[in-house]
Amino acid sequence: MTPREIAALLAYIGRLDPRLARSDQAEAGAQIDQWQELLADVPMATPYGWDARTAAREHYQLSPYPILPADIGRPWTAYKRDRIQRHHDPLPSADPEDSEAWAAELVRTRAAVATGTAQPAPLRQLVAAPEGQQQERRRAEGESCIPPAARHLLARFRPALAAREAAVARGEIDILGVDCEQCGASAGRPCRVRRIEHGFPRGTRQLVDPHACRRNLAHQRAANHAQQPTTV
Ligand SMILES: [Zn+2]
Repeated sequence: MTPREIAALLAYIGRLDPRLARSDQAEAGAQIDQWQELLADVPMATPYGWDARTAAREHYQLSPYPILPADIGRPWTAYKRDRIQRHHDPLPSADPEDSEAWAAELVRTRAAVATGTAQPAPLRQLVAAPEGQQQERRRAEGESCIPPAARHLLARFRPALAAREAAVARGEIDILGVDCEQCGASAGRPCRVRRIEHGFPRGTRQLVDPHACRRNLAHQRAANHAQQPTTV
């Protein structure tokens, strides 16, 4: 705040708390000097929610004591901390090869966010519309709503389904497309066997390779299907 802004702030505070009002010219000057020395870095107001007068008013809403410069400085520090915590560095527009310009842009953006002249940038994943649209499209086309890259990473945790997807992609017969008569797995679910531990059944375990009878059934169905005359 400039001396002029400090004077305006103190005039406002004097209306809230007559104890701080100074009628003597010299005393008023000394008070402005003291406050300006301590609050030179704190802006009067920013376009995004900070106002020193609001901080002063909130002080008197909660405290019976005369306000001190620290009662403006502390909320300002909290305001900055809150904003920087909500900020996620956006990709700089500078050339990534020019590391100095790249870092300078990140620092500039953070400073602008902290001092309230720019809004914090949200996490890109939360706002990225294109990925959401792609997901809608995949759902509409009957594909998995898991993005291909994520599905690839998940493959080792769902080996049977990953093997099925790979086989279908290669144009092979979809074994898991039929129910299994041996283990009772329904279409789309991997075959399973009962897991025995220390002689007791402990749930089931999924098999990567489907039961042979299921494989035969799927091939049989595919063969029947191919023989059927196409009707219009
Ligand atoms: Zn089975």
